[in-house]
Amino acid sequence: MIVEDAVRLVGRTLHPRWLQRPTILPDELAHSYALRVLVLNEADSLESLIAAVSADGVVDPKVPKAQFLAWVADVDVSEFLRFHTLAPFQQAFTCGATPHSHGENRESHLRYEALRVKVPSFRICDACKQEDLAYWGFPIIRVSHHIPGVEWCEKHAQPLISTGFDTRHISRIQRFSWTAAPSDSTEWPGPQNEVVERYAAISTALMARCESMPVRQASGIIAARAKQQGLRRALTGKRKILSDLVLETAPRDWIARLLPSFLSQKTRPGVFAASLDGVMKPATICRPEAYAVALAALYSDADEALSDLTNAQEAPESLKVRAKRSRPSGSKPAGAHTATEVAEAYFRSNFSNAAMAKLLGGSCTWIRSLLVRLNLPPASLIGKARNRAALMSFKAGANIDSACTSAGASVTDLVDLLRFDLDLLVPLIRRG
Ligand SMILES: [Zn+2]
Repeated sequence: MIVEDAVRLVGRTLHPRWLQRPTILPDELAHSYALRVLVLNEADSLESLIAAVSADGVVDPKVPKAQFLAWVADVDVSEFLRFHTLAPFQQAFTCGATPHSHGENRESHLRYEALRVKVPSFRICDACKQEDLAYWGFPIIRVSHHIPGVEWCEKHAQPLISTGFDTRHISRIQRFSWTAAPSDSTEWPGPQNEVVERYAAISTALMARCESMPVRQASGIIAARAKQQGLRRALTGKRKILSDLVLETAPRDWIARLLPSFLSQKTRPGVFAASLDGVMKPATICRPEAYAVALAALYSDADEALSDLTNAQEAPESLKVRAKRSRPSGSKPAGAHTATEVAEAYFRSNFSNAAMAKLLGGSCTWIRSLLVRLNLPPASLIGKARNRAALMSFKAGANIDSACTSAGASVTDLVDLLRFDLDLLVPLIRRG
């Protein structure tokens, strides 16, 4: 068990008095938190801070950095990995037949993988930075800005600015300087490509999952969809293959940044490129980016791809609000809304994404990704009064048929609605 191990290894109740332990903020990347911890403790590096704390005898000098940071932040390692690293995306698909929780205590993962960021340099959104400054009093580096292939801030619909500060080594985190980070927000027309847009929706939803998915499950769905579309799955043959479809529909420069090895494998049309076409083979494991881009190219609707991918339903996920300032001065930064607040806003805006965007302050794309994360039903389903009435009588104990008959709703609609997690929404509907 993670919790017991964390207690055993680092003795979480025994923080030395001198150690300054700032609160970790929603959506804050581990690296950003590490930087704040170092600054507050006047330490040069995480290594030297670990050495100083271990000299007090409360942590093992060899504690993995991710585990040390979680201990400083006073959160479980699993929670730390889920909400403050890219682990949910990087570990979205795993080999085993059974899913495992992100952050399950696997020593080698904690030591070598947990803090990896696959984007070469830290990225920031200028508008988020200004909001953070106004709300928390300082800017943070965000997890949601470092999903490979999602090159804009979903909240503000602005391109992310690459800071040029290397993400490769957490040990070098002290080199990140906010004053040296470029500040520029250019007018931006949006991703302008449907595959890129669907990719963003899919990878953001993967980030919100609490456990990995067996790679077999993903490749099965992708292979079936490819077959439906008449694409070839064999290594050789005359028909078009998945990677041809991706190259035809997604921007080449974006693909080159997303899957650098792909274009060198794809020497001409029809060639089987393992880094991408491998996603159709259940025995192969490719990078998570490849599965997400395959789904984005094969489906015309990201929600449909996601619901095919995740047959099993997930619990609604709180967006984890931690200690806030008592009197916030600016608009809430992305990630600072609780699941209930989002559901409430959804209901109050009469299920309109645009109205909700206005209410919470952010773009419609951002709202959409919030709704996906919380697994709330789309407006088209919930908005109909008949569906709502049928849902209420079903929840009150009626069977599906009679709930639909009495409300004049269709059984398909109600069954669709029940696939979503309604625990957040139903009490609000009832109140309304
Ligand atoms: Zn932003």
